[in-house]
Order: sequence, then C-alpha cells, then structure tokens
Amino acid sequence: MAGRVSDGLNFLRKQSPRRLWNAAGVVSSYYLSRLNGKPGQSGLPLSLSFEPTTSCNLRCPECPSGLRSFTRPTGMLPMDLYKKTIDELQGTLMYLLLYFQGEPYLHPNFPEMVAYASERNIYTATSTNAHFLSNDLARKTVESGLDRLIISIDGTTQETYHSYRVGGKLEKVLEGTRNIIYWKKKLQSSTPHLIFQFLVVKPNEHQIEEVKSLAKELGVDEIRLKTAQIYDYEGGSPLIPDQQKYSRYRRLPNGKWTVKNSMENHCWKMWHSSVITWDGRVVPCCFDKDATHQMGSLQEKSFREIWQSKTYTNFRAAVMKGRSTIEICKNCTEGTKVWG
Ligand code: SF4
Repeated sequence: MAGRVSDGLNFLRKQSPRRLWNAAGVVSSYYLSRLNGKPGQSGLPLSLSFEPTTSCNLRCPECPSGLRSFTRPTGMLPMDLYKKTIDELQGTLMYLLLYFQGEPYLHPNFPEMVAYASERNIYTATSTNAHFLSNDLARKTVESGLDRLIISIDGTTQETYHSYRVGGKLEKVLEGTRNIIYWKKKLQSSTPHLIFQFLVVKPNEHQIEEVKSLAKELGVDEIRLKTAQIYDYEGGSPLIPDQQKYSRYRRLPNGKWTVKNSMENHCWKMWHSSVITWDGRVVPCCFDKDATHQMGSLQEKSFREIWQSKTYTNFRAAVMKGRSTIEICKNCTEGTKVWG
C-alpha cells in the first residue's frame, strides 16, 4: 500500500501545468464526443506505448512475439526515431510505457531510452519477463530513472511457470527481481516501483496466494493479477481459468464461449493513448498487435499530423459506430482487467 501511494505521488510530481491542461482538453473532448456522437479530439495523448523491439526470448502460447507469428517485420526501434517522437510529445505526455510486443531488454539501448524520457520528466514504465536483469542491467535500470517496472511472473514453481512462459526459467525471474531490489537499496532510490504481474490461467490459478506471499517475501511493491486474452476463445481453451473473476470469457448455455464485456460503442483509449511499433507505425491500441490498422508512419509524418489525420478520425468514428464490426475490438475487454 505504501508503495502504491509513493508511486502515485511520484507520478503526480512529474506533471506540469501544460500536461494537465492538455489532459483537461482530452477528457472534455472525449465526453463531448459521447454526447454529440462526433469523433472530435482536442489535445495530444496522455499516454503512449512505444515498442523497443518485437524480438523475444520466450515462446508464450498466446503471444504473437512468442509464436513468431507476426506478418509485420521484427526489429529494433532506431534511437533517432524514438528521440524525435519524445521531443515532439514531451510537453504533453504524462505516461510512457516502453513496451508493446517483444522483450524490451533485448534492445541494446534500453536504459538509454528510459533515461532520455526521464531527463524530460516523463513518467516511464516497462514490462519484462526479467530474464535479462543481470547485476549490471539492474543497476543501469535504477540509474536510468525508470519509474515503474512490471515483471511477469506466472507461476511459483518452475513447472507451472514454464507451462505458459515456454522456454522461461523461474530462477532467472527471481534473480532479476533480487538484483533490482538490491540496486534500489544500494542507490537509495524509491524507483522503479516494482510490480509482479501474474497472468491468471488455468494451470497457475491455484498459485495466486503463493505468488502474493512470494512478492512479500522478496520485497516487491505490488502484485497485480491479470486476466489473459485468448485468441480462439469461442470453443473454449485449456487456459481459461475456473475462477470466473479471473476470466475475460464466459460460457454460454449452448457450450460456446463469449467475451464478458458489454461492447459499448465508445473507447477512452482512442482519445487518451496511442501505440507506436518499433518501425514507427502508429496503431490505435495494444490490441492491434500485428498493426492491422495503421494510422500513419512516423518515418513520414509528425505524430500530431497522424493523431489528427482523417485516418485516425475515421477509426474513432468507426469505433463509435459499431465496435463489433472491427475485428480487434471484438476481443477487447477494456474494464474487465482484474488487479489483486
Ligand atoms: S480494441 Fe477497439 S475498443 Fe478496444 S481499445 Fe482498441 S480501439 Fe478501443
């Protein structure tokens, strides 16, 4: 609890009057659009996901990086493209997630990227499988000023852990976690706020209490229980947990499965956030993993031009008209994430 409060205060301390003014414009234009049914947008995104790389060392079964199933190319975010975009958005951006698909620590300049945003007082976060948090990288991570580090730990025994994190080693995750905690203490840093993220699937749902104890024992600041997205859910899946509150899907009387959310025709994400792939394609949200809906490329245009483009506006309008007609939106469960 104390960790969450200090993380919240840290986030607030980083905001400036210009960022708050931009946020007010974004929030009001979102509510106005819901009232008048028009996709009008004011301001720039408050939150951005930037993909350092699509490469990954693991082979998780519901992840296109893990399955090597992308139709888009695999690569590493060029530093000049990254810096150019951060320079453009630094005045208004409140939250930068250096993660989309892939394992961010595989990018050779990852700590540098974080430091670049930190120096501009942007709150930074990332999500990792923690297999590369060596002593050296853990020190560099703390020194970079990273504000939040989400570590995926989906089991408390090697057997359970690698049933989803295929190719992964639980001992590496624990070692990486200890290294971060060691360097936070050594450098007397309250950041990064350390979160264990536990993706609840059928093979690990019996370990929920154990992961909470493990987090406490290690000195992790927070534990989050996350529901899993399943691609082919209609016929059921061995990954869907028995505990309904940890599932995004429910079984219908005819035996088929459906998404639990009510599929309302609006989407806050389309107003307040955006996602950029490693090669500069702007896509609407993190559900568009293969960049099916490209709003534009930062190799050709500025972010503002893309954000205010006809393509983006038409996509917002299409979501408002009928989410169920857009493939990525059908399996989107905004609002049904479960945090423990
Ligand atoms: S999948 Fe559709 S509804 Fe869900 S966040 Fe993305 S754009 Fe919004």
